[in-house]
Amino acid sequence: MKKDLYHRTRSSREEVGDLTDCLFCKIVRKELQSDIVYEDDDVLAFRDIQPKAPVHVLIIPKRHIASLADLTDEDKGVMGHAMFVASRLARDSGISEGYRVVVNCGKDAGQSVFHIHMHLLGGRSLGWPPG
Ligand code: 5GP
Ligand code: ZN
Repeated sequence: MKKDLYHRTRSSREEVGDLTDCLFCKIVRKELQSDIVYEDDDVLAFRDIQPKAPVHVLIIPKRHIASLADLTDEDKGVMGHAMFVASRLARDSGISEGYRVVVNCGKDAGQSVFHIHMHLLGGRSLGWPPG
């Protein structure tokens, strides 16, 4: 595969929480209540409203990115940072013995909110492979 295929840039830079109708942009803008566990300029982490494990946190870039399939070169930094935040939250939640970080990409993979998010799941034993 040509290396160039791994390089995409966004033509117009999207701003923090800029999509009016996006559920997670509304959470970023604090128009919708959420149980926030971590926040900085670029990333927000909050508890899933329907937890699938004792620890179930969603980690999102504040800037709207629809899915893993929509990443551009500009997003590399924030996605690496989001993964680092997941690691720190896992440590601080006491689940370092075993946890999972999941990104569902696209409808067939179960993505229901089209603002990219990492699920941090832990606090119970997790089956493999996922369904
Ligand atoms: P997906 O299915 O897209 O991978 O994950 C979306 C997740 O967002 C689901 O686990 C769902 O429970 C969670 N979710 C949906 N709406 C809300 C909400 O309004 N607040 C919070 N905290 N989580 C939500
Ligand atoms: Zn959004």
